[in-house]
Amino acid sequence: MEQADLRKLEAQCVQEEPPFCTAACPLHVDARAFCSLMGQGDWDKAWAVLARTLPLPGVLSRLCHGPCMEACVRSAKGGAINIPALERFCAEQGGRAARTIPMPAKGKRVCVLGGGLAGLSAAWDLVRKGIRVVLHSERPGLDLAREGASPLPAGVLDAELERMVRLGADFQAPVAMTAESLQALLEEFDAVIVDCAEQDIEGLGLGEPDTMTLGTNMPGVFVAGQCDEHVFQAASGRKAALSAERFMQGASMVAGREREDPYPSKLFTNVDDVAEVAPEPVPEQGYDAQQARAEGLRCIRCECLECVKHCEYLARFGSYPKVYARQIYNNQSIVMGTRQANTLINSCTMCGLCEELCPGDFSMEDLCLQARRELVEQGNMPPSAHEFALRDMHFANGPDCALARHAPGEKTSTHLFFPGCQLTASRPAAVRAAYDHLRAHIPAMGIMLRCCGAPAHWAGRTREYERSMDELRSQWESLGRPAIVCACPTCQGMLQNALPAAAVVDLWQVLQGAGVPESVKGADMELTVHDPCTTRYEPEIRQQARGLLQSVGVRVREADMSGNLTECCGFGGLLAEANPELGADVAKRRADSLPGELVTYCAMCRDMLAKGGARISHVLDILFPDPSAGDLAARPAPGYSRRRENRAHLREGLLTDLWREPGDPPKPYEELAVSFTEACLATMEQRRILESDVRKTLLRARETGRRLVYAQSGRYRAVFRPVAVTYWVEFEETGDGYLVHNAWCHRMRVAGGAA
Ligand code: SF4
Ligand code: SF4
Ligand code: SF4
Repeated sequence: MEQADLRKLEAQCVQEEPPFCTAACPLHVDARAFCSLMGQGDWDKAWAVLARTLPLPGVLSRLCHGPCMEACVRSAKGGAINIPALERFCAEQGGRAARTIPMPAKGKRVCVLGGGLAGLSAAWDLVRKGIRVVLHSERPGLDLAREGASPLPAGVLDAELERMVRLGADFQAPVAMTAESLQALLEEFDAVIVDCAEQDIEGLGLGEPDTMTLGTNMPGVFVAGQCDEHVFQAASGRKAALSAERFMQGASMVAGREREDPYPSKLFTNVDDVAEVAPEPVPEQGYDAQQARAEGLRCIRCECLECVKHCEYLARFGSYPKVYARQIYNNQSIVMGTRQANTLINSCTMCGLCEELCPGDFSMEDLCLQARRELVEQGNMPPSAHEFALRDMHFANGPDCALARHAPGEKTSTHLFFPGCQLTASRPAAVRAAYDHLRAHIPAMGIMLRCCGAPAHWAGRTREYERSMDELRSQWESLGRPAIVCACPTCQGMLQNALPAAAVVDLWQVLQGAGVPESVKGADMELTVHDPCTTRYEPEIRQQARGLLQSVGVRVREADMSGNLTECCGFGGLLAEANPELGADVAKRRADSLPGELVTYCAMCRDMLAKGGARISHVLDILFPDPSAGDLAARPAPGYSRRRENRAHLREGLLTDLWREPGDPPKPYEELAVSFTEACLATMEQRRILESDVRKTLLRARETGRRLVYAQSGRYRAVFRPVAVTYWVEFEETGDGYLVHNAWCHRMRVAGGAA
């Protein structure tokens, strides 16, 4: 990823935008933090938030009329937060901010003409930065006192003026101002700020001050205070102080100042579920502690996090996409040293929900896919992340499972049934029944058993993906380029992308046209539909699946997060392989969130949500039930070994039953008599170790005689590395066979002759 790409991505996520109140405040007070602390009753810390930003905080916190309230999103839900009333209450608590440590003197001097709030605020900011200020005024802050309506208690203004004196302000009598006296002041001082609320600038030849810098025709002279409300006067004083500082430094007068005035925040905050609560009414004497807390608690602490609220993965890593983009960028940029973000990169399910929810269309899917491809290209992808899934894909595409044929007795195919490797692994009997049913209505319906290539795509293995798709394409072409009928929405999406010339349709539409088995019509049940995340942008597939269910009498219940807002089952993007614990949590969260009994039209979703504790059927379970298989909605997801066997047995069954071909002879390792303890089978499943891997290891030990013996138990240990994975198996001999007690594997090459 280039740095420019990172910047573009960062700009898409608005979570770090200031809240609406802060953006609208002329001084940009962190009102969100302030309200939060007021809600907690922590007056001292709340005061520290004000004192960090406000010039003369004791004065301004009592005088500000609260333009921030106009932008508060709470307005739509009862009324804006009364921040000015909260500030006044907080100021009355006598809270003391941390003492300002004077900055070392910078050797610069500024003259401020006029002691209204603009001049005082400019002086406040400058002295706190170590710049000496001489302020000429009849009586600094006199206007505030003169107004009469000022709620300033006695002594507040004086205390803040004394503080300024301690920091280096020098208050002096007013001076007559002419163009010549200004010029003279400019020779004595490094810059001059005129507070025009106290000083008349007519006839001085200063011209109209620049709106961004308040600079005038006379370089080094800045004019503040051309506004009515106190807070705007203070803000203009601050602006003039910053301009004077930049002028003295010879720095750019305009760079980075676009957001100095109030501006509309780009933050997005969803208030749909926020309850309406009316503001606390303000008594004449102001809030008491209880009222101040209640009003502080009305603040909803505006933020976005729309994606994080719905994505377990985003929430699990403790932050939000803008931060993740930076972490991934840093991770990819490391030349030497340890990469920390690989788990982050490999744990996104690539479900696309964040992009759908995000006001800026931020796509973690695109970010993580690109990062995975880069890791693969650089040779930095940890082999353990996807090795098992890729090996599974190769197995599905290998001689034991793959098949591409015209229907028996047919020389051409008008259609090609593509059930997908996960449906064949999950419930091969349904694939067989569906194929028989399809052929009864569309005789020239060929079949292709293989994987669609999604694992290689998700793993960022571009070359492997392309190889797989080339092979698939050439098989499809050799069958006469028939229309492809997909029983899996993931496969359908992959094939549509890879074979743009192919007509790719979903099985549900074809079954509706062909008609469903008479025996299953009139099903009387209500089921909640889980839409696979790969149908997020496929409303027609979603509709076809529902139509098919309704045609057999299923009443379809819709979940809140369905259709284009559906949530992933935990399998997408190979999450379940790269981060099994999180994959299981995602599946459980989704299963728990859906009401009642479920139905879906993706085999992997069915199995993941079954693992998550749901009672769930696949559409084909309803269309092609099997009384001998028991309660299909309650069946557990088959383990990894069983999934492979199911694929291989389906192929063999089709060859022998439909094409009358002899099955393959058993392989030598399949002929060994091997049994496993229950605990060992559970461990193997968790460690992604297949029974066939254990059998190969045992056969190797038998053929070479190489094994270790445990002195105490008398058991043996054998080791074997058939591919890039090394296996260890602990077993005992049982007369004619083996009882396996434990198995381990390491998904990397282990030096030391395990081959
Ligand atoms: S609800 Fe709170 S954070 Fe949001 S705009 Fe209003 S005061 Fe600011
Ligand atoms: S899992 Fe889905 S919602 Fe979450 S970040 Fe990845 S693509 Fe976005
Ligand atoms: S939805 Fe997520 S990515 Fe988008 S702006 Fe909000 S926090 Fe950022």
